[in-house]
Amino acid sequence: MASEDHKPLEVDIEDDDDLCPICRQLLHRPVITECSHTLCELCMTEWADVSVTSQMTVVPLNERPEDFVAAGIQAKCPMCRTMTSAKRSLEMEDRLKTKYPEMYEKREEESVAEEEAKEVRIETLTVYIGNTVVPPEDERALFDWEFFVKISDTSVVNEVEILLHETFKKPRLVKWKAPYSVRRLGWGTFIVRANVILKHGYSWISSDAEDTKYAKRASLPLEWELCFDGGGSQARCQLKIKNERRLVRRGIGG
Ligand SMILES: [Zn+2]
Ligand SMILES: [Zn+2]
Repeated sequence: MASEDHKPLEVDIEDDDDLCPICRQLLHRPVITECSHTLCELCMTEWADVSVTSQMTVVPLNERPEDFVAAGIQAKCPMCRTMTSAKRSLEMEDRLKTKYPEMYEKREEESVAEEEAKEVRIETLTVYIGNTVVPPEDERALFDWEFFVKISDTSVVNEVEILLHETFKKPRLVKWKAPYSVRRLGWGTFIVRANVILKHGYSWISSDAEDTKYAKRASLPLEWELCFDGGGSQARCQLKIKNERRLVRRGIGG
């Protein structure tokens, strides 16, 4: 009797548009890109090529990390490789839930189980890099500038290393706490480099991320050319970070 009740596990997906082109399964938490590709949210996160340089945008100097509402991360589409951003489509999600109720629920359960097993958390960070400047009062005086890196969530940051032009007395500075900034007097502009190093267990989801001595992809190298026009300038980019907490095995004895 049990075998007669047996239902085929795989429900046919009639419409190819309901399949994710990456994992070839029913779309789960679908996102639609600007280039009109539809993918699972996780597939987009895992396969999109996120580079810092391509998405750095100059923004008004008074914009702060907490003011910026994420409209979607700029990344290279895994399907067509164009720069794009993806938005979650709740409309499509509802349609899939209605069309394939059992299969969708199964996908949801699987992904929750996978997230829990891996203990992976993904978070979006907004990063600003820039400088303010006070011009000299007379020709012989120096520019009074302050370089900064601002991060929407500083609790995940271990340190920010700032590298100035080698002609400065102390060209390398390490900031263990926000504000991650340095103020100096100088004659001219140059490229300031900064490495944002995440706390243990966190890594950047970006092709630009570099390994540190202790962890893979934990350091994000940034570059900023000082701007002495107006009051200064800043640029913004958004990046995802991954938190993989290793499950601590507890001994039975004791
Ligand atoms: Zn997928
Ligand atoms: Zn595309």
